Amino acid sequence: MFYLVEEFFSIQGEGKYAGTPSYFLRTGGCNLSCEGFGTSYCVNGLVKYGCDTYFAVDSSFSASWQKIDDANTFISHLKTEFDAIGYLPHVVITGGEPLLYARDKVFYTVFSWLIDYGIRVTFETNGVVEIDFYKFPAYKKAIFALSVKLSNSGEPISKRINTTAIKKITDNSDESFFKFTLNKEIIDSSAFNEIQNIINICPSKKIFCMPVGECRSTLEANDKAVFIFCMKHGFNYSDRLHIRIFDMTQGV
Ligand code: SF4
Repeated sequence: MFYLVEEFFSIQGEGKYAGTPSYFLRTGGCNLSCEGFGTSYCVNGLVKYGCDTYFAVDSSFSASWQKIDDANTFISHLKTEFDAIGYLPHVVITGGEPLLYARDKVFYTVFSWLIDYGIRVTFETNGVVEIDFYKFPAYKKAIFALSVKLSNSGEPISKRINTTAIKKITDNSDESFFKFTLNKEIIDSSAFNEIQNIINICPSKKIFCMPVGECRSTLEANDKAVFIFCMKHGFNYSDRLHIRIFDMTQGV
């Protein structure tokens, strides 16, 4: 069983495959909360802080999450969705943290079907969960966008960096790359050293840096600093096309 927060057909807005038509599956729940990203929202009259997908992280929203407990029914549903699109899109499994469900039978059955059906699947993950590639070999065929969190997430290093998990993913998967979320403050302080420490775990991977920004105005406050930072250090700049175009994240 896994929780699905939303699903929608759109264009991948960030990272290596930015611009690619993609069907998004957003799972519910995360092992981090990333209050440092500073998106504010209100639950039962209480103001809380989190990332731009707080609705998929904070269990206060779980009543609206859909329980997927029958793989065959969900696979039939996906087939219908792809038929309506008219071609097989790239599939992006995001969250929250989708790999919290990596060992779940229903989740793995759906994922394996996607791969067998000839679909390219990207996991957008914080890179903290260790995957057993021996027991769940289909994951070798996934693309992993390793969005490892830096100190600007507000999470302690012991929670946000799992060297073993990152190494297992980069060693065993067909494709993986790093994607870091930066704001001006961390660029002016520790971003380069923090990134360097993480990419040293597997130095050959491509590195994308993108601006923090749950809305267009926040994005515009950080984009130029990230752009210049990428030029200075030889990293790839990633925009957030969906925010740039729609000024919001949910369902686009
Ligand atoms: S790891 Fe990602 S989804 Fe989870 S709280 Fe942090 S930014 Fe949000």
